[in-house]
Amino acid sequence: MKEIGLIFSIIMLNSFIIFAQAPSELFDRTKMEYTGDKAVQAKKLLRKVEIWGNITEKEAQLDTNFIKILLADLSFTKKQLRGYLQKNQISEVDLGGSLDSSISFVIHEGQKIFARYFVIHDVSSPTYKDKFPNNINDSTWNRNNPDTWREKVAHIYLTRTGKTKTVTNFSEPWRATKFESKILGTVSKGLFLHIEMVQPRMYPPGNEGNAPVAPVPGFTDLQYQKLALLYVCSSLRKGEWLVPAFHANIDESIKDAHDDPQNFEINKFTNQIINLVKDLREN
Ligand SMILES: [Zn+2]
Repeated sequence: MKEIGLIFSIIMLNSFIIFAQAPSELFDRTKMEYTGDKAVQAKKLLRKVEIWGNITEKEAQLDTNFIKILLADLSFTKKQLRGYLQKNQISEVDLGGSLDSSISFVIHEGQKIFARYFVIHDVSSPTYKDKFPNNINDSTWNRNNPDTWREKVAHIYLTRTGKTKTVTNFSEPWRATKFESKILGTVSKGLFLHIEMVQPRMYPPGNEGNAPVAPVPGFTDLQYQKLALLYVCSSLRKGEWLVPAFHANIDESIKDAHDDPQNFEINKFTNQIINLVKDLREN
C-alpha cells in the first residue's frame, strides 16, 4: 500500500509539474516544438489572458469539433479556398501573400521545418485616458483604416472592421515574442507567424505607456472571421494545420512578458474556423 501511495504521489507530482510549467519550459529544442500533440499544445498555448497578463486557466477549454479539425489533415483544397476568396473578393496579398508560396521555415539539423505556430497578438494601442471613443468598431475610427498600420512588427494587422494589412509576407521569417528573440535565438526565426489584432487600451489602472484595460468585447466578429481565414490560408500554405497560440502564453514567466491578447473569446474564433472549413468543403 505504501508503494502504491508513493507511485500515486509521484504521478500527482508529475502532473502538477506539467501543469505548473510555462510553455517556454515545455519547448523541446531537439524537435523545435512544444511537447504533446497539437491539441495538447493548443490547450496550453490558448489559455485565457487576464488583465496584466495573468494566466490562471490550467488549460484552454476548446470546442471538441475544433480539436477534431486540428488533429486531422486539411479537408479542403487550394482550389476551394481560391474559389471562396474570389467569391468574397478578398485578395491573397492581403492575407499574407500568395497561396502558391510556402510559409517561412527554420533549418534544424539540416532539415526545413515550416512554421508551426500561429501567434495571436493585440496591438494594445492607441491608449485612452478615460473612455473609448464610441466608434472604435466602425470605419469612421481612423485606426480601422489598414493603411494607418505600417510598422513592421508582425506579419499582418487586422482591424476591428475586418480589414487586413500584410506588412510581412508569411513566407518571410519574423520574430515578435521574447521567447523567440531572448530565449531561442535566431534558430527560431521562421517557426512562428504573427498576427496583430487592432485593440485600443485604456487607463487607469496603469498609465499611458502601460494601459491594461481592453474593450468588452475585446474583438469584433469581423476580426474573428478574418482571423480564421488567415489561419486557414497559412495552414493551406503549410499543408497542415498550424497550432494557434496567444502571445502572452508564449512568453509566460519570461521577464517583461506582454499581456496580449486581452478579452479574446476562444469559442468565437474556433466557431469561425469550424464554419469556414464547412463552407470551403462545400465550395
Ligand atoms: Zn504581442
